[in-house]
Order: sequence, then structure tokens, then C-alpha cells
Amino acid sequence: MLKLLSLAVAALICLASFASAAEPSSKSSTQQAAQVLIVIGPSSHPPGSHEVAAGGRLLAHALEHSENLRGVQAEVVTEWPQDRKRLEQVATVVFIGDTFPPMRMPQSEKIMQELAAMTARGCGIVCLHYATGLRAEDVAADGEHPLLHWMGGYFATRCNHHKSIAKIFPAATITPAAPDHPVSRGWKEFTLHDEPYINNYFGPDGNKLAAGVTAFATSQLPPEDPQTEIVAWGVERPDGGRGFGIVMPHFYKNWALDDLRTFILNGVVWSAKVEVPKEGVRTAAPDLAAFAPGSIEPKPREPKPAAKK
Ligand SMILES: [Zn+2]
Repeated sequence: MLKLLSLAVAALICLASFASAAEPSSKSSTQQAAQVLIVIGPSSHPPGSHEVAAGGRLLAHALEHSENLRGVQAEVVTEWPQDRKRLEQVATVVFIGDTFPPMRMPQSEKIMQELAAMTARGCGIVCLHYATGLRAEDVAADGEHPLLHWMGGYFATRCNHHKSIAKIFPAATITPAAPDHPVSRGWKEFTLHDEPYINNYFGPDGNKLAAGVTAFATSQLPPEDPQTEIVAWGVERPDGGRGFGIVMPHFYKNWALDDLRTFILNGVVWSAKVEVPKEGVRTAAPDLAAFAPGSIEPKPREPKPAAKK
């Protein structure tokens, strides 16, 4: 038995050294690569809008196939990983889904506890579009919720303490608000047809940004009564971690906008504490169909089946 065991160990060592001799560079890059965990939460939006799974796959592909970014690995999951060791390796976790996925996924309490441990060690957190959203039942009466601190703000959807607004605008112009910040590299002001949420929630002090929170982009919305609305922001937390929230894209096809895509990729990379390239994270125009969305063009919601007579 002992002999067998030592043989097995010897074989393993042999395999390991063969692997490292064969692929020295990929092994070392694997060890150093920042791990991005992309978590796809539930979504019930019609094809062409939200497209959380296709969006997650597109984001992972862009992170791993950038023209000027190295050392980032991305994994897309639809269930919260059960392996705690795996979570310990994660540099930043990106959420996509209808409202903040940890509140909607099974074992919500466990996920929130593990996220608390991850953020406490400086892990980044990113939410895209509706994943920035928390409902009244998710938050305390005064709006308190860990996400407020992990990410610096949230979209208060159907909340009582604060009313954020979701509306599709035919042409919202998104303006960089922190031009010298690494997240602002390589993209410029752009205009899109989308649903950038407005009147987002940043805390109980008159909705002012808390210490450490920076507005990354603003938009003058709504068109009929324009206010300077913060539509993307980031936080550098006391635990050393970073959070990034951006309230787009609603429409899947907006991933094709270079400025928006670079902005999102920069934010993810920055949250993982990886240096953002000076031209921003550059990626080729994605083949939107390749990530298997329900539809590229938005489709109306299916009518509810008529009640049986
Ligand atoms: Zn939406």
C-alpha cells in the first residue's frame, strides 16, 4: 500500500514537473492572473434586453481577448460557487441580473456572508445595470444595506426610503465625470438609446456621495427637466477593496458600443486592482450573436397566456 502510494506521488510529481516544463509561461501567468468571477443572476426580461447570460459571456470573452490587457482570467457562473477556496482566489466579482443577484439567488444569506468576507479582504465588486438594484424588502427602513458600502451606491427600485427611476431614453449622453481616473481611459462622451437609471441612492446624507466614492459618469436627464445624474460610480473602501457600479446596458446590443464597453471593462479591471492600460481596455467589436443571446434586437414581452376557461 505504501509502495503504491509513493508510486502515485512520484507519478504526480513527474506529471507536475512535465506540465511546468512544457508550459512555463502559461503556468506563471495562471498563478499571477487576476480572477474575475462573473455571476449571472435570475432575469425575466424579454429577449434583447438584459440578456444577462449572453452579456456575462461577452464580458468574460472581452476580458480574456483584449488587445492590450494581460493577466486577467474570467469565469462565468449561474450558481454561487460552493468551494470557499475558489472564492478566496477571486480578485473581483461581477454581478449581472434582475436586481442584486445575491438577494435573488438560493442561499442568499450564505452568499451575503461570503461576500462580506471577500470584500473584507479587499475583493472588488461590480454591478451592471439592473444588478445595481435593491428593493424595499432587501434594505432596512433607512436604506441601509451592505451593497451601499461595498459599491458606494445602488439603484433603489420600488424602495420607500428613496425613489430611483428607470426609464428608457431615446438618446442619453454619457459624460466622463472623473477624466483623470484610470476608469476613464480610452473612452469619450457617448450617446445611446438605453435605460440609464436616475436618482440612484448614495446614502443618508442628503444623497451625497460618501467618503471614498467617485462619480465616473453623469448624464443630463431626464430630457424634459435635466439634472446632473450619476450613472456610474466607484468606491475605494476602507478595507482596501474597490467597487464599481454602472446602470447600463439595458439593451444587449449596446455592448457593441466601443465607448461603453471600454468603460465597463476598465471598471472591472480597476476593481480587480489590475492596472488599466493607458488607452483603456481595447477589444474588437464583439460578434453579438456568438454569445447566444435570445435576440440581439429587443423583442416585446410575451403576452401572458390567457386564463383557461
Ligand atoms: Zn433594464
